[in-house]
Amino acid sequence: MFSGTNLPRVGSYNINVVLSCVQASDGISRVEIAQQTGLTAQTVSVIVRRLIDRGIVQESGSLPSTGGKPRKTLRINPTAANAVGIHFDPLVVSIVVVDMMGQALAHWRQDISPGLDPEALIAQAAQAALSLLSDLGIAREQLLGVGAACPGPIDQRQGFVTSPPRRDRWTEVPIKRFLEQHIGFEVIIDNDANAAAIGERWYGHGRATSDFAFLYMGTGIGGGLFLSNHIYRGVSLNAGEFGHIVVEPNGAPCYCGNRGCLEAMCSPAAIVKAAHAELAAGRTSKLAILYEGPCAGRPHGDLPCRSRR
Ligand SMILES: [Zn+2]
Repeated sequence: MFSGTNLPRVGSYNINVVLSCVQASDGISRVEIAQQTGLTAQTVSVIVRRLIDRGIVQESGSLPSTGGKPRKTLRINPTAANAVGIHFDPLVVSIVVVDMMGQALAHWRQDISPGLDPEALIAQAAQAALSLLSDLGIAREQLLGVGAACPGPIDQRQGFVTSPPRRDRWTEVPIKRFLEQHIGFEVIIDNDANAAAIGERWYGHGRATSDFAFLYMGTGIGGGLFLSNHIYRGVSLNAGEFGHIVVEPNGAPCYCGNRGCLEAMCSPAAIVKAAHAELAAGRTSKLAILYEGPCAGRPHGDLPCRSRR
């Protein structure tokens, strides 16, 4: 699945190949790495020794022998380093601190009030992330970096969202630069659907799967594509942004200006809105019990609700 090269002077590339191989497996031997990557047994052995010495990979148990001595199983050392993930959803900001296996060690979450200045929110999120790291006793040198996931489409090179859904004030706000200034670590910004797909590839259902599509349904609709073990961004760098494909020309108006976009018809908010409209029109449903309850203050509190009439 991963291919290394035995040509000279490609050491760092081969280290990444071996590391990816270990990361994608649930325990793998040196022999299996050599088989999967095409690298020589000697090259694999040298690279693995380097990764073990640096504490990134550890030997954990043994695989059954097929003759000769048992083969040591290699796994990523979860405590080798940590990372911070920050998700700027249009409605809520979420922060998580993870170990090398993607295990969440701490969470923080806060609703976003519509009038809040973007830089003030970024500063607040940075402070919250630093507090989480402090509470966990994670030293600066232990942190690999910070990943910021934002609703797309984004300009990854410039580090901002080009046309954020439902948040005009966030258009071209330099999220990466502001965050780096406030948090003091390097930040990588990505589309939230891509980030979710990468998460699934590393730690979820897409683990060890070289090609798959991930459908993202949050405040909006998007997708992430993995092709040949790499996230596919396309020429626009936002290849998975298909939420504004028009599926019903006379459908519901969308904030992008069109009517009947997939997102306007099928996002969770659109489905809730359609259900409210049906119930308001008198349609009989078990949902009517929920519909009678208070809805003020919820994300969809602007929708028709009998308790507010
Ligand atoms: Zn649209």
